[in-house]
Amino acid sequence: MVNKIDKIALFGGTHGNEITGVYLVKKFIKNPDLLQRSNLKVLPFLANLQAIKLQQRYVETDLNRCFAPEDLENLDTILYEQLLAKNIHKKIQENQVNFLIDLHSTTANMGLTIILSDTNQFHLELGSYLSLIEPEIKILHYASAQKNQLLRSNIKLGITLEVGSVPQNVLNADLFMKTEKIIYNLLDYLEKFNQNKIEKKSHNLVFYEVFKTIDYPREEGDIIAMIHPNLQSKDYEPLHPGDPLFITFDGETINYEGNATVYPVFINEAAYYEKSTAMCLTRKRESYVTFN
Ligand SMILES: [Zn+2]
Repeated sequence: MVNKIDKIALFGGTHGNEITGVYLVKKFIKNPDLLQRSNLKVLPFLANLQAIKLQQRYVETDLNRCFAPEDLENLDTILYEQLLAKNIHKKIQENQVNFLIDLHSTTANMGLTIILSDTNQFHLELGSYLSLIEPEIKILHYASAQKNQLLRSNIKLGITLEVGSVPQNVLNADLFMKTEKIIYNLLDYLEKFNQNKIEKKSHNLVFYEVFKTIDYPREEGDIIAMIHPNLQSKDYEPLHPGDPLFITFDGETINYEGNATVYPVFINEAAYYEKSTAMCLTRKRESYVTFN
């Protein structure tokens, strides 16, 4: 059971070319009053300064895959991001952070997505509260194989915010302002939570659970088909067995051959070409959440 949240770390620029989070954190560093709440201490951080300067996702390796406990303890890791991960981990420990927010953006059409790495009661109540205020919010449960490698995984509680679609190194004012508002609503929630002032409510929370990733069709490692036009930008929409999935360069359609309806996300995410991921498939779930 969670009793009190008092130290919050807010990260932007974990990926240097996702600049919604970078400029939000810069704004908060200049205007700390915006993050002030009666019983919270919020620490804004720019995670990967070198990558931000270079306008790249990372310098040597993806920072958001460097936090596995065995890697943090490994003295032989020498890449820029591997060393950075150790510093960030230390900072989180030293500051006794008990809630973490990690700001990302995506080239996929995922709107305002809150990613939860697990669906404990605290996270579900928080997700319900935020999506009741802002119905555009989608809740994505992503317990990936790499989940302990993520910056978010440094502590038990927190969320990753993923907003899009927005190209890399581009600011979209609407997404910027909506992300900012979610942060304020989240801080208000945590402040009230500490005061035991969350209004009692019941809510049927819809969330999407990632169960599989799909790669592009390839020959000898080279991509031979693209996301089908019917599927492009259709994140969170139902994909039925037999629906078009990819189209080859000769115009031949490749259909989805699963046996149940699924809801793809991260469709055609630019950063995932190197990760052999054309999209993630999710199942739609519902949970009846009661606040008390
Ligand atoms: Zn990212």
